[in-house]
Amino acid sequence: MREIDTDYLVVGGGASAMAFTDSLLAASDARVVLVDRRHRPGGHWLDAYPFVRLHQPSAVYGVGSRSLGHDRIDGSGPNAGFYERANANEIRDYFSRVLDEQFLPSSRVRFLGLHDYRGQDGDGHHVISLLTGESATIRARKVVDATYIESEIPSRHTPSFSVAAGVHLVAPNQLVDLDAPPGGFTVIGAGKTAMDTCNWLLDSGVDPDRIQWIRPRDPWLFDRASFQPLRLVASYMQLQASWVEAAARAESGMDFARRLHAAGVFLRIDPDVEPEVYRGPIISTRELDALRTVERVVRLGRIRAIDGRRIELEHGEAATQPATVHVDCTAAGVPPAKPRPIFAGERITLQYVTITGATWSAANVGHIEATRDNDAEKNRLAPPVSFSGNASDLLHFSYAAMSGLYARTSESDLAAWAESCRLNPASGAIERIDEPQIAAAFTSMMSNFGPAMRNLAARVGKGAAAPT
Ligand SMILES: Cc1cc2nc3c(=O)[nH]c(=O)nc-3n(C[C@H](O)[C@H](O)[C@H](O)COP(=O)(O)OP(=O)(O)OC[C@H]3O[C@@H](n4cnc5c(N)ncnc54)[C@H](O)[C@@H]3O)c2cc1C
Repeated sequence: MREIDTDYLVVGGGASAMAFTDSLLAASDARVVLVDRRHRPGGHWLDAYPFVRLHQPSAVYGVGSRSLGHDRIDGSGPNAGFYERANANEIRDYFSRVLDEQFLPSSRVRFLGLHDYRGQDGDGHHVISLLTGESATIRARKVVDATYIESEIPSRHTPSFSVAAGVHLVAPNQLVDLDAPPGGFTVIGAGKTAMDTCNWLLDSGVDPDRIQWIRPRDPWLFDRASFQPLRLVASYMQLQASWVEAAARAESGMDFARRLHAAGVFLRIDPDVEPEVYRGPIISTRELDALRTVERVVRLGRIRAIDGRRIELEHGEAATQPATVHVDCTAAGVPPAKPRPIFAGERITLQYVTITGATWSAANVGHIEATRDNDAEKNRLAPPVSFSGNASDLLHFSYAAMSGLYARTSESDLAAWAESCRLNPASGAIERIDEPQIAAAFTSMMSNFGPAMRNLAARVGKGAAAPT
């Protein structure tokens, strides 16, 4: 049995693990062992459906020390006018290069691919090779759980409904393998994967009338126009200003969402249906317009069973045909996770600490770990920003996000680091303070931040001291 000594054992080699490790390496001399069941770094992107792209700009995704893409603004297509978004191949290649060209040559990182983490006892942490069965014991100062917010994706997901023999049910990954045109498509799910699937079918020339969309609950969506960094950072500052203003006045999570909708930050698919779900996906209005052409929408709750001609749902039935391809998009993507302290002695549990951006969150946690000494202080700087999936919980979500942001920006070294980090969507805004839109956003945030924190603290019952 192998024995390995290290400073940090990072369990998981996904995007969060990579961003955490990169930040930690940059601000300390720590040694890291990364362990993943998959053979390469990149996590769920290794098994993503072929037409997936980031929903946020590549410019603010990945690790802090390396650009992803070329920070170009797309000139055509549904993303025209917005910063480029990497596809799965680009993301896989990116994380491979981070490992091969940066982490491994530093001699401070070891990557154990195809290794399963099996827990800890008095001897250390145990991992086993999924190829050879050989086990290794890793003694580490700290273990970093980079699996807690692990993504749930269609190709590795078992649907919760029953499927009769002969029903053609596929993951979106398999849509590119069809060998004959089906009788129609039934897309199942209301999240980003279902939206990507409908948009891809439409872009590929499928008539919207041939698509039936089972959409149990509609989601609130971010307008991509509000989520642009770098030269377009004014849009992101306006988003932040609208967010803080809504937080200052909202009486409930749903009221908060409605205010962001009125401000043009949140979108909804159907103007006549108020969404109940919040998971933070980002979409362009062009994509939204295309989605609205799919009119055969079934809102009868979740599916219980599919047989040859009938889809049984919680609140009724829908028709289907033996020749229909059913596309299972019900994997949670980013599943809700109960918040827990990120820093707890020898254990660090990676979670979101910002309103979006898994890698921006993980980079923050890595930097705080490297630059702060005690857990209470680290946890004050990085409260988990967990979402339940319900828009009604948006005030709790906002309170955590804004408390953390306030704590971090109040520390001059962290504020300077954040300003210089490529993953920070707000980076560069201060340099452009002369632009009227950015100046107005800062003014609005400064006047609304105190009232927002007081309103949120009162409504989510924390009673915490709010900044004045
Ligand atoms: C389709 C899709 C698009 C997305 N787009 C964006 C986006 O544009 N921007 C954004 O910020 N976020 C996006 N996300 C959110 C996404 O969750 C994060 O960006 C990020 O990739 C998640 O990385 P992760 O490391 O947290 O999880 P994962 O990628 O799921 O990695 C977790 C890893 O842990 C490993 N693991 C689990 N258990 C063990 C064990 N016992 N032993 C060893 N290894 C283990 C798994 O094999 C896996 O590789 C998207 C998610 C999806 C599904």
